[in-house]
Amino acid sequence: MKKVKVVYDRDKCISAVTCANLNPELWEMSREDAKANLKGSKKEGDKWVLETELTRYLQMACEQCPADVIEIFDLETGEKLF
Ligand code: SF4
Repeated sequence: MKKVKVVYDRDKCISAVTCANLNPELWEMSREDAKANLKGSKKEGDKWVLETELTRYLQMACEQCPADVIEIFDLETGEKLF
């Protein structure tokens, strides 16, 4: 499976829950502020970042996030995939 870097702009999450419904392995809703948390991610600047394997469900979460705050990059080439 392709290794990717997920970059998540949590500040702009609008709590639509799409990601957590499609890809609960990686996304869960916070009980504190009702935004999504990217499980296992680390904060880099003002974004949250996770290196992981690309799955169909992660791709769907990225593509269907209505706020468009999830980006996926190829870990080797740095190319933006979704
Ligand atoms: S789909 Fe996007 S806007 Fe909705 S909870 Fe997930 S990150 Fe936030």
